[in-house]
Amino acid sequence: MPGSRESGSRDGTVDVVVVGAGFAGLSAAERLAGNGRSVLVVEGRDRVGGRSLSGEVAGVRVDLGATWVARRHTAVRDLASRMGCTTTGQFDQGRNVLWMAGRRRTYSGTIPKVSPAALMDMARVQSAVNKLVATVDVDAAWESPEAGRLDAVSFGEWLDRKNALPGTRALMTVVSKVQWGCTPSDVSLLHALRYIRAAGGIDHMLDVEGGQQQDRLVETTQEIAKRVAEKLGDRVRLGTPVRRVTQDDNGVTVHTDSGQVHARYGIVTAAPAHRAAIEFDPALPEQAQGLTRTWRMGALSKAFAAYDVPFWRAAGLSGEAVTDTGTVFITFDVSPAPSGPGVLMAFCDPRVFDGFSPEARRDRVVRQLVDLYGPQARNPIDYVDHCWGLEPFAPGGPNPAVAPYATTSYGKALTEPHGRIHWAGTEAAGEWAGTMNGAVLTGQRAAERVISLLSHDVREGVPR
Ligand SMILES: Cc1cc2nc3c(=O)[nH]c(=O)nc-3n(C[C@H](O)[C@H](O)[C@H](O)COP(=O)(O)OP(=O)(O)OC[C@H]3O[C@@H](n4cnc5c(N)ncnc54)[C@H](O)[C@@H]3O)c2cc1C
Repeated sequence: MPGSRESGSRDGTVDVVVVGAGFAGLSAAERLAGNGRSVLVVEGRDRVGGRSLSGEVAGVRVDLGATWVARRHTAVRDLASRMGCTTTGQFDQGRNVLWMAGRRRTYSGTIPKVSPAALMDMARVQSAVNKLVATVDVDAAWESPEAGRLDAVSFGEWLDRKNALPGTRALMTVVSKVQWGCTPSDVSLLHALRYIRAAGGIDHMLDVEGGQQQDRLVETTQEIAKRVAEKLGDRVRLGTPVRRVTQDDNGVTVHTDSGQVHARYGIVTAAPAHRAAIEFDPALPEQAQGLTRTWRMGALSKAFAAYDVPFWRAAGLSGEAVTDTGTVFITFDVSPAPSGPGVLMAFCDPRVFDGFSPEARRDRVVRQLVDLYGPQARNPIDYVDHCWGLEPFAPGGPNPAVAPYATTSYGKALTEPHGRIHWAGTEAAGEWAGTMNGAVLTGQRAAERVISLLSHDVREGVPR
């Protein structure tokens, strides 16, 4: 195994053991291997990519999980280009569909053109959000001057106090479902503001052109992870959930059902809630334990319906829709070419989706697509969906739905090492937390820290 002292047996010894083969873990391993360090990535699933997963509909590869990269997501873009992956602009031409309070209309731009009063209210609430976002320290939200006050209410309670009109509330509910996989009442205002700040502000978070939904990966986002893993070769071990992590003055031992891995240092990239399934010895300090208890994952589901051609384009529609009723709450056009197949990607609310049979889920989605795009949507040539809340291992996503008080109580533990164990993963990012870009940055950062500790150990002659 190049650059590795791992024995090849189920037990082994390396410089660094990495838990999790998502973007954070793979980026950490790539950086470590590039620095000549021996590394082993241990992944519980039988695949790499974590919250990034490819699917197929009508022969077109689609992103069942993470999809978009912004122009400013330079770390993941750099990784993608080094892996020979390419981006394509998110299709954004034509009018968008708005289905609110049982009424369908079309509009252009990011914000639906509703009544002047509703527009003014949206602008008022967005400006209030922006003012608060500016007070939040993106690297240490829990230390922001107003952190205590902002973490004592949910985003939903704050919208109530602002007397947000139904249209504003509906738009913020869509933001909340997409970002945190929950309604505004389930997420702390401070947590919401931290993620909005990390996403470059609310406009950047919502925009396609120049914003967070700017580009997709032609090959799908999981393909980036697969290619990094291919490069790492047998430094990545799949289907190996980590059950226990022990450490002493000499190193870290990761215990799995099929053996142990000994290392000088460990990098754990499992999301905070998923760390609860790992027994740490010595036990995690109270703040880090609190993080695993309270940073529960939200849930989001996605569905894709394919047609011979993107017929909505001929009607002057972009394939973008926002709705406040039913299962689907947003759609996007992710067709590979104007000649087809036409593919609509729909974000679905898991509470009115995940519990149904696959046939009933399909029916619900197709019925809503007919409401939004007309009778031509009735007979898709293919359909696929994915429920992140139902994943058997490390379920949930896109991000944790963190309730009031949990950010100020435990947020500090996101980055504080536990002895020889360092933390990475998109939750630990400052800027771009909640995205693949944030995950890549934290993986690289943790790798750099560990590389400098390993160099220090060598200089000081610490026995191995
Ligand atoms: C539906 C959806 C849509 C999204 N859309 C976007 C988007 O458009 N753009 C964007 O940038 N981001 C998006 N995201 C978020 C993005 O996917 C994540 O921010 C990013 O992939 C997180 O990477 P990570 O490495 O930090 O964590 P993960 O991807 O969660 O990786 C952690 C890994 O650790 C493994 N693990 C956990 N516990 C153990 C254990 N005990 N033993 C071994 N392994 C373990 C997990 O299986 C997982 O593979 C989306 C996510 C979802 C779910």
